[in-house]
Amino acid sequence: MEIIRTVKEMKEFSSEARRAGKTITFVPTMGYFHEGHLNLMREGRRRGDVLVISLFVNPMQFGPKEDFKSYPRDFERDRKMAEGVGVDIFFAPEASDMYPPDHQTIVRVEKVTQNLCGRSRPTHFQGVSTVVLKLFEIVMPHVAIFGEKDYQQLVTIQQMVKDLHLSIDVLGMPTVREADGLAMSSRNTYLLPDERKAAQSLYRSLQKAKELLQKGERRTDRILHEINGILHSESLVRIDYVQICDAHTLEDVDRIEGDVVVALAAYLGKTRLIDNLVFQTPKK
Ligand code: AMP
Repeated sequence: MEIIRTVKEMKEFSSEARRAGKTITFVPTMGYFHEGHLNLMREGRRRGDVLVISLFVNPMQFGPKEDFKSYPRDFERDRKMAEGVGVDIFFAPEASDMYPPDHQTIVRVEKVTQNLCGRSRPTHFQGVSTVVLKLFEIVMPHVAIFGEKDYQQLVTIQQMVKDLHLSIDVLGMPTVREADGLAMSSRNTYLLPDERKAAQSLYRSLQKAKELLQKGERRTDRILHEINGILHSESLVRIDYVQICDAHTLEDVDRIEGDVVVALAAYLGKTRLIDNLVFQTPKK
């Protein structure tokens, strides 16, 4: 595995790989790897000749009161884990190289970023789409792989790729979970033991929603009521939102029809966690 630290060298490597007819797969990350990340990398390994991952804790996608400074970082640990799954290129640029002092371009995807996390993190997705477009231009991948755990992010990137006619296949991979169902996240390391235990209720509430949907419940309010009930029964959980949306437009729905996403965000102490469930029903 080769570590590349500069935008210039990364572009040179990718140009050369493309000239040689190689298929480049790409997994962008903010590091502090867990099985969720490794699963994306393994898929990348299978799908291309050259697997590039990036590790960049992108300051632009954090709000002023968010956890940019405290976000977990361990380069040596990440390096070993990436090497273990067969990554070819580990791209870890400096913030000053990604955002020189005169940087002034922002990419904003409109409708799909307004709802859900966009409500409490109003500048988050423009930070994501800006850095991902820049990374796409630097890494020049044929295929880019993202996790469904960050469902709104995946939809936003897919929309950007479509709108800007980018020649990149964007692939979503299922959420990888801990044994008790909690979605893996680098932020889980922030949780105190009591909070970690209470966090199980997020997955439990989504399982309840799934059960209701499978039994044929189609009224959104009934499902939301059950989810809220489960989350409210945990005193350490503070709900940010629980919503059921069209899985493509991310607009709220009153009745379940076609593809929907049941999405939630909650605080456990200072830690904000998200999770979701995508459910498909026939469209009338
Ligand atoms: P992050 O480092 O948190 O920005 O995540 C990098 C990529 O890994 C994103 O595409 C995430 O959606 C994905 N990811 C994070 N956690 C999980 C998980 N538990 N299961 C699947 N993918 C994940």
